[in-house]
Amino acid sequence: MDENTHIIELKDIDKVFFQKQHVLHVLDKINLSVDAGQIVGLLGPSGSGKSTILNIISGLLAPSSGKMIKNGRIGYMFQQDHLLAWRNIYDNILLGLEIQHSLNKENTDRIDELLKKYDLWHFRKNYPHELSGGMRQRAALIRTLATDPDVLLLDEPFSALDFQTRLSVSSDIYRIIKNEKKAALLVTHDISEAISMSDVIYVLSSRPAKVKAVHDIALTLNGERTPLTARKAAEFQDYFDCIWKELSDDD
Ligand code: ADP
Ligand code: MG
Repeated sequence: MDENTHIIELKDIDKVFFQKQHVLHVLDKINLSVDAGQIVGLLGPSGSGKSTILNIISGLLAPSSGKMIKNGRIGYMFQQDHLLAWRNIYDNILLGLEIQHSLNKENTDRIDELLKKYDLWHFRKNYPHELSGGMRQRAALIRTLATDPDVLLLDEPFSALDFQTRLSVSSDIYRIIKNEKKAALLVTHDISEAISMSDVIYVLSSRPAKVKAVHDIALTLNGERTPLTARKAAEFQDYFDCIWKELSDDD
């Protein structure tokens, strides 16, 4: 892949929903790109159109106008882990491959490796309710990784978790994404979470959503970047204050 090509590029994407009584203009000329290995955060008010952007990228929805370029495989992970209660963890993880008719040795070998690497191998025969929220979220991520996507679409993946769990799960998920050299588009409404995990953050306005600001997140760290060390960087608060202001004085 040419290093100047984006994995995903949205150019002037508009989305209008035609509802019973009226027309809802949701996205207003959205320009956004995701590069290989990059975690891109997407912040915006509730109802601004963040999930709609992910749905357009994944192909679930068609844009009303604009251009979209995709140069890689896409994996989608939802807010809830969506693990099926009556299937054990292993069979839940196989589900994505079954749906895509890509149940082959290469892919099942990848699953085994991921389960071992990320401490779920001994739990593969367990059922979702027997696992902690964090483990379920890791299992859901491995299911998404099973098809070897280049970019992960993560729609508020931590919002169902309590604060403590959320911090440790976001660290796990960050580590896995970076280890596996995946790119991700991470929707969240938590400013701190976005700064702690993202290389770039897009801030959306309220509906119809426009890109209000784009921040390259550059943090001074001594040592490895993790979501936890990122929170201790000197620049963290400045990014927070700036984005807080952008989201508060909405126009
Ligand atoms: P966010 O994820 O930022 O909270 P969404 O993208 O889910 O926002 O929704 C943006 C707006 O579009 C909301 O007002 C929502 O009700 C509306 N909407 C989303 N999907 C559809 C759809 N398939 N048909 C009609 N309206 C929709
Ligand atoms: Mg949403």
